[in-house]
Amino acid sequence: MSFIKFLGTAGARFVVMKQLRASGGAWLSVGKTNLYIDPGPGALVRCLHSKPALDPSLLNGILLTHKHLDHSGDINVMIEAMTDGGFKKRGVLFAPADALEEDPVMFKYAMGYVEKVQVLKEDSQYQIGDIPFSTARKHRHRAETYGINFKISPYGVSWITDTKFFPELPNLYQGEILIIHVVRLKPVGDEPIDHLSIEDVKMILKKAKPKLAILTHFGMTMIKAKPWVVAAELEKELGLKVIAASDGMKLDLEEV
Ligand SMILES: [Zn+2]
Repeated sequence: MSFIKFLGTAGARFVVMKQLRASGGAWLSVGKTNLYIDPGPGALVRCLHSKPALDPSLLNGILLTHKHLDHSGDINVMIEAMTDGGFKKRGVLFAPADALEEDPVMFKYAMGYVEKVQVLKEDSQYQIGDIPFSTARKHRHRAETYGINFKISPYGVSWITDTKFFPELPNLYQGEILIIHVVRLKPVGDEPIDHLSIEDVKMILKKAKPKLAILTHFGMTMIKAKPWVVAAELEKELGLKVIAASDGMKLDLEEV
C-alpha cells in the first residue's frame, strides 16, 4: 500500500515553538520505497510514537525542500536513525545546495553516513527506488526551496512547500493530489511575507483543479481559524475536495 503519513502539520515559528501542532514532516511510502520529507523538530519521536511505529532504519532516503528549522530540525538524528547510528552506510539525501554548502544544516560526520547526496536543482528529475520525482522552478522563499512532483501511480502527488505566491505556481504542480503549505489565513499587505495565504490557495486550486487538495503547515492565523473549517469552506466554494491535514493523518494513495 502506498501512503503518506503526516508526522507534523505545524508551519512557521510560533506553532512550532509552542508545538500547537507537531512539526515532524511526512513519511512517503510507495512500493518498497520509504522517503522522509522535511524532518522538522520532533520527526524521530513522531516516527517512533506513531501507531503503528515507523522505523527510520527502513528509510531509503530523506528529502529536504529547504533548510529552514521547521523543515530540518531533526535532519541529523534522522540520518543517524536511517543508518543505524552510522554503522550502516545507506540511504540518499536530497537537499538544495544552500542547505549543504554555506551554513549547512547537516553535520559533516552525519553526511558521511549516507550512501549518496543528490543536490536538488530547478526543473530536474530524480528517482529513489519506486519513487520518481521532479523539482519545479525555484520557490520565492528566503532559503533555496523546491516544491516536488512525485510521479507515482495511480495518482501523482504534487507538494507545494513554502513559497510566496507567483502566477506560474498552479501550472507547475499538476498532480491529482495536491499538498499545499498554507501558513496564513489572510495575505499581509506589502510586507515581504514569503508564505501562502488562503487567498493564494484559492487562486492555485481554481487553476490546478486537483482531485484532492490537502492543506498543511499551518501558522497561528490558520490554527485560530480551525483548518478543517477553512478547508470545508474552500471545498464548498470551489467544488473541489479539500481537506486539512492533522497530525498523524495517513493518506492511502490508492484510495483517494
Ligand atoms: Zn521556510
